Amino acid sequence: MGNTVENPENNGRGNLVTPDGVVIFDRARENHANVVTKRLAINMGFKCNLRCKFCYYLRDIRAGNTRDLSTDEVKRRLRVGREWGKEAVDLTGGEPTMRSDLPLLIEYAREIGYRDICIITNGWRIGSDASYLARLVDAGLNDILMSLHGAQAPIHDDLTGKPGAFDRLLRCIRNVKEQGAVRVRLNHVVCENNFQTVQSAMDLMVSFRPDSINFIVFQPTRDAFKVEEPIRLLSYRQVADEIKAAISRHRGIVPHINVRDIPYCLMKNFEEHVKTICQLQYEKVEWDYCLDVLFKKGRTFYTASVMAGAAYSFCNPYFILSDVDNKKHIALQAARIYTSRMKGPQCRRCAVTQICDGLVKDYAERNGCGELVPYGGRRISNPTYFMPRDEIE
Ligand code: SF4
Repeated sequence: MGNTVENPENNGRGNLVTPDGVVIFDRARENHANVVTKRLAINMGFKCNLRCKFCYYLRDIRAGNTRDLSTDEVKRRLRVGREWGKEAVDLTGGEPTMRSDLPLLIEYAREIGYRDICIITNGWRIGSDASYLARLVDAGLNDILMSLHGAQAPIHDDLTGKPGAFDRLLRCIRNVKEQGAVRVRLNHVVCENNFQTVQSAMDLMVSFRPDSINFIVFQPTRDAFKVEEPIRLLSYRQVADEIKAAISRHRGIVPHINVRDIPYCLMKNFEEHVKTICQLQYEKVEWDYCLDVLFKKGRTFYTASVMAGAAYSFCNPYFILSDVDNKKHIALQAARIYTSRMKGPQCRRCAVTQICDGLVKDYAERNGCGELVPYGGRRISNPTYFMPRDEIE
């Protein structure tokens, strides 16, 4: 038996399609076709004082094959972002607080007009030095994204490869909360080492009253899969059940709870929390994927990927509806889905197949696609269909 898209009794998101397929209200007609996020990310390098077991770049960091961007290059990318109309920036790494020029770069971002300036940090430095945080805030920092990977020190310290990392992070979060003027967002990567404690981790995160909590379901890709003892993910369904139970306890307390890298059908009745690759361009808190690819891979790769993605997207009604800028995003995202994700044969008859990423390829190849249950009902092509309106740019 498949699910049916939009069961109003269960998810309280308004009537769309009844279980017998009658369209009552069609959100898919709302037009977000010309919306692109105003946020960009700048990966400033790979230097890091932790060694997270699931890090995409772990092998390169261990081997010392990484290089940091110069101050001038980060400034150049900040300027490019402004030329593209970006108003918010996530400065990331590696660990940005290891750079001596971080206050200067934040100040520069503020000077050239960024409204929201965020760092993505493991909390190690700020947890031991509140005056450093004050310096960053003086420079213009107003948003911090931190990662908590376990409800207790042994789990977090083991996953981050650093004894004491948990205590430092908690002190960092407290320092940031005491500062007051900085938005707090928290990430929690869910993998086989911590999925059974997701609920207590959620309780702990909620106790800090963050603006958002992001569950990122571990993706066995890139370097994270090539180290000697790779982390596995045994069952996405089990993980989804734990996350759903955790969300149920705290719905409405934290403004935004997001779950990334999991298909809709495993998060039935929690679809508004699911964030997909198809949604990237519309999300206020997500990065401009075109700029990201341009920065990381260069123009040749970017152009080839847009062209390949456009070929996959040709029958997508939302692609046809979108302006040129949005078409590039849709095409690039489609190329990423095509190369990194996989669906089962049952997905062909699923109502949301056009807006769903499917499973990460590595996982699907090892575990199969048997967990996936297609939705019945009308076909949906609007990638913002399940998104809460206040999360759209
Ligand atoms: S397309 Fe496949 S993976 Fe996505 S929701 Fe439907 S059945 Fe699940």
